[in-house]
Amino acid sequence: MKAIEYSAPRTFAIVERETPQPGPHQVLIRVKACGICKTDLTIHDGSFLAQFPLINGHEFAGVIEAVGSAVTEWKVGDRVTADNTELCGYCDACRDDKPLYCENFNSHGCNMPGGFAEYVLINHDKVFAISDRLSFEEATFTEPTACAVHGVDRIDPHFGDTVLMFGAGPTGIILAQLLRLAGAGRMVIADPHQDKLDILAKLGFPEEDLIVIDKADPAKHTAAIQALMPKGFDIVIDATGAPSITQATFQFVHKGSKIVVYGVCPADATIEVNPYQIFSEEYTIIGSFAQTHCFSRALYYLESGKVQVKDLISHRLPLEEYGHGLDLIVQKKAKKVVILP
Ligand SMILES: [Zn+2]
Ligand SMILES: [Zn+2]
Repeated sequence: MKAIEYSAPRTFAIVERETPQPGPHQVLIRVKACGICKTDLTIHDGSFLAQFPLINGHEFAGVIEAVGSAVTEWKVGDRVTADNTELCGYCDACRDDKPLYCENFNSHGCNMPGGFAEYVLINHDKVFAISDRLSFEEATFTEPTACAVHGVDRIDPHFGDTVLMFGAGPTGIILAQLLRLAGAGRMVIADPHQDKLDILAKLGFPEEDLIVIDKADPAKHTAAIQALMPKGFDIVIDATGAPSITQATFQFVHKGSKIVVYGVCPADATIEVNPYQIFSEEYTIIGSFAQTHCFSRALYYLESGKVQVKDLISHRLPLEEYGHGLDLIVQKKAKKVVILP
């Protein structure tokens, strides 16, 4: 099979590898579509969970090509996607029913073979059926939607909570839709790119609450946001992964606010916080890391159309143009790039 394989950080090639064969409890998926995610940029640079050599790609969907001898619930031809996480089941966290904190957390596309290949091998218990209502391209959004479902679990919004979110990338736009469904009240969303804010407007988010981030002069958007909600927001989310934005979240809070770190900042980045302020204002600081066991809820929101993702896809490329797809994301010329192996 053809695959994109990294031999080391920033070093990848399209290679020919033997097509894997399913063990008794595995299924082989013929990948029809796999999304490039910002996390792939982090993996490209060798951080996040990355281990090399690696076939990356964690947002994939396709058709079952072969099933292992003990697999009874899946058959060749089924349209599926898969929860890319693999948990050991025997560490303290797994045995305490905290699977996301598994001490041996493995993830297809991060430290195990993923979907930028013609085929991917998955344990049968991680496979999820997709109906004909969902295209393979849309189904690649199940993983980012599952991450956003986990984000909503972590944020635990109260009915009517006011929300400020920085970042309207694909995952930010999905998270915004889920928070609205989860009962969020007024939501102000800020992003440097008007075309991304336009997608939110089309999804029914009021235009007066969509703010363009001015990177050259942050005082401008800061003032615009503060004018909308002078006393601060109940929930402030950084979905950009820019440490300067994580730092700035503290400018928009009030007593009792939740501050959410949702974007993936560089692993060695730091920000300054005032511990007295956290103490006296009773801030809650929330991290939201990936997901596990959120796929069925994510699929419901996608299949029901309650979460819309079609407009997020800006490019469809063959496997051979993976590098071009990465460049488009780095240069911020793309929304979602989907690879069609
Ligand atoms: Zn992702
Ligand atoms: Zn474990």
